[in-house]
Amino acid sequence: MTVHRLSPEILSAMEGAVGRNGIAVEPAGMAKYLGDWAGDYQGNALAVLRPGSVAEVQALMRLCNELGLGVVPQGGNTGLVSGAIDSKGGGLVVLSLERLNAIRQIDADNFTLRADAGCVLQTIKDACEARDCLFPLALGAQGSCQIGGNAATNAGGVNVLRYGMARDLILGLEVVLADGELWNGFSGLRKNNSGYDLKQLFIGSEGTLGIITGVEVKLFPKPAKTETAYLGLASFEAAVTLFNRARRDCSDLISAFEIIGAECIELARLVDPTTRAPVPAPVQVLIELSSSAAIDLNGLLAGFLGDAVESGLVTDAVLAASTAQARRFWAIREGLVEGQAKRGYHVRTDLSVKISDIPALIEQARRFVANDHPGWIPLAYGHAGDGNIHFNVLPPADLAEAETRARGAEVIAGLYEIAAGLGGSISAEHGIGRSRRKEFWAGLSPTHRRMVAALKNALDPKGVMNPGCLLPATETFP
Ligand SMILES: Cc1cc2nc3c(=O)[nH]c(=O)nc-3n(C[C@H](O)[C@H](O)[C@H](O)COP(=O)(O)OP(=O)(O)OC[C@H]3O[C@@H](n4cnc5c(N)ncnc54)[C@H](O)[C@@H]3O)c2cc1C
Repeated sequence: MTVHRLSPEILSAMEGAVGRNGIAVEPAGMAKYLGDWAGDYQGNALAVLRPGSVAEVQALMRLCNELGLGVVPQGGNTGLVSGAIDSKGGGLVVLSLERLNAIRQIDADNFTLRADAGCVLQTIKDACEARDCLFPLALGAQGSCQIGGNAATNAGGVNVLRYGMARDLILGLEVVLADGELWNGFSGLRKNNSGYDLKQLFIGSEGTLGIITGVEVKLFPKPAKTETAYLGLASFEAAVTLFNRARRDCSDLISAFEIIGAECIELARLVDPTTRAPVPAPVQVLIELSSSAAIDLNGLLAGFLGDAVESGLVTDAVLAASTAQARRFWAIREGLVEGQAKRGYHVRTDLSVKISDIPALIEQARRFVANDHPGWIPLAYGHAGDGNIHFNVLPPADLAEAETRARGAEVIAGLYEIAAGLGGSISAEHGIGRSRRKEFWAGLSPTHRRMVAALKNALDPKGVMNPGCLLPATETFP
């Protein structure tokens, strides 16, 4: 059943649960919660709910579940697959976690932290640093995304190859279930091998199984030293060979290995016109090593790069001489993502293949775009150390909006086919959301679908949790 408007009785029950300031129903008050980060989609909602406590989240969920009213949980709204907005503009409410934003506890002796789900990732990282610890999840959106959103999307980022994805960093969760019941899944334990690991169900569930209200994460010693270098290479094959060598020769101290096609530099310039690639090469690599012990990291990286240049694998290398220079290198990597958003709608992918298949993926994808969609501009970059390539494509500037989106869908379908041909995944780290739901669902085996449906029906029998995200809309759900 779709609810088309909230009756005065329902509104007053909601106000009773969260107070007058915890609810917005006017377009002006709701606007900032209804558009996606990239500006691709504008959604709609019957109301935006902003609970200020876990008890308020529970009260709202009890009410919505009773009414059969769909709820879209929203964190920092930086997701790139329309999971946190109802892009079709249906009769749902958005539930923002932004007011649940306290760090509950940092235990530096046990290297753990507990925070409200709405705590911004950067706030958590800063608080850990002040206690000489590191929370290694790192992504371009860290100034806005929330730890609950990171858990709900199983976020990746630039340090996955050393520390793993959000799934590997989370020790426990606190979740309000669809019917308002609270599950306290905190334990503070690193080893807890007692039955089903329920937190893993909610990690990566994109708001479809419950509302995460608290997150407990693992911390690490703060690195005492970090070395960053920007490299030029002749090909993506050379970059993969370099990565394999670096993993062995740099004593497992690599914390990031990012690949950047030279064509992406133009995009970074849209954000900062003074941006220049430190090395002019068709393929560029940003490598970072870090260590908490006082070892000669600079000597290690300089020696490794010296050999790589001598052997011809690397054509040019700049080792950052200061933290400021390292920041400038990273600004290129972050700027090229922001620059794409400035270009308006474009094809965005998040492909994952075996690391050794990265060159084949990029070569086939570029050939496909050149042959089938001449005039479209391919961009290749990503977390190469994880086999994760964002192969994005900019439309020609003079194409009308409607045609751009229709052709864009064809480009995406072609790219997904190439990834599938290499045994890859259409979502390395961004999730499925509403943008990739059809392809995701179509690709599942009947057994896989049956298990997913059983879990969804058990935890959210009325289908109120984020309808239309990740899974088929409730009405058609098996
Ligand atoms: C510039 C930029 C760079 C990015 N880089 C990366 C990257 O390197 N790696 C990466 O993995 N992602 C990246 N992303 C995508 C995005 O930042 C991540 O997916 C992030 O984890 C989303 O967090 P959020 O709080 O913004 O969640 P939202 O966008 O608000 O929500 C995302 C999904 O999670 C659900 N959700 C949010 N909070 C909760 C909650 N408390 N309980 C239940 N469900 C919830 C929503 O319903 C939605 O389905 C990037 C995005 C941008 C804009």
